[in-house]
Amino acid sequence: MVMLLLCTVNGRETKRAVHLAREKVAKAINCKAKEIYFTSCGSESDNLAIKGICYKNREKKNHIITTKIEHPAVLHTCKSLERQGVEVTYLNVDKKGQISLYELENAIKENTILISIMTANNEIGTIQPIKEIGKIAKAHNVLFHTDSVQAIGNLKINVEEMNIDLLSMSAHKFYGPKGVGALYVREGIEFEKLQDGGHQERDKRAGTENVAGIVGLGEAIEISYKNYEEYNEKLKNLRDYYIEQVEKRIPNVSLNGDRINRLPGNANISFEGVISEELLYKLDEKGICASGGSACSTGNPHPSHVLMAIGTNSKMAKGALRVTFGMENTKEDVDYLVENLSQIVSELRR
Ligand SMILES: *Cc1c(COP(=O)(O)O)cnc(C)c1O
Repeated sequence: MVMLLLCTVNGRETKRAVHLAREKVAKAINCKAKEIYFTSCGSESDNLAIKGICYKNREKKNHIITTKIEHPAVLHTCKSLERQGVEVTYLNVDKKGQISLYELENAIKENTILISIMTANNEIGTIQPIKEIGKIAKAHNVLFHTDSVQAIGNLKINVEEMNIDLLSMSAHKFYGPKGVGALYVREGIEFEKLQDGGHQERDKRAGTENVAGIVGLGEAIEISYKNYEEYNEKLKNLRDYYIEQVEKRIPNVSLNGDRINRLPGNANISFEGVISEELLYKLDEKGICASGGSACSTGNPHPSHVLMAIGTNSKMAKGALRVTFGMENTKEDVDYLVENLSQIVSELRR
């Protein structure tokens, strides 16, 4: 009897905690709580969004539009769908990593069901014209999904204003716990679930919820947007100071991506005549943690698909270094980084 009572209380508390987290996510992107589905990560959210829409509609429409610079969670999902008979258009991007709205509109066909374009790129930080893309999608009656995994916490997203129908996010990209993500799907849009089982997440994602993770995600998203202006300003200043110092002190470097329209904490610079793995190794010895072409392709000998798409030659692509600034970094950290970089780069070039 006592046990039973305890269980009921815990169950109710758990339900309430999950509901509260859902409300926090909804508030952050301006949607309704019931439009949020919790998942295990950003990759799962991307899979559920894209496959979910395609499977639901494949009898009627089977063409999707995406870009060449998406995260593998989107690109490989699209490849998988191609093997299942779905037609996919991969849009080009310009030197800065921007899509062309004209090309996007031209790519829409009678059988286009979905446009999936990332809000901001994880390697070069380029931010896409999301509001304009949303407008085009709406005008043509095509659904619009955006992978906002890099954007949530760093940029203000309003799904109503931006006409976003589906949006993916992942907690560990905004200081939340690993192993939990969320997908927003506008009310009324039907999609196929990918995992069968119980009735969790309004019957769209079977399996017992990761309650601790979900609560952490809710807290993290709330905190991110509470200090948004201050945090954003700080990261932008660090980023611009770093880029300026590198360009001033190290010859033969080139900034990858868009100088202005980029994530506040992202700086991706190529150092000619240097291999980024060697650079990373030397930086690590100095206690500096950065990434090469792509964090997700460690050990991958091929140059980054993103750098290839923006037309970086393979020599420069091999020497790309991505630095991501965070909440705890200071101007002194940047000075320390640039000092070491300039020494290491000239050493490696010798
Ligand atoms: C990290 C990332 C993902 C994948 O998120 P996980 O939670 O690691 O699965 C998807 N898209 C982008 C743009 C990312 O940066």
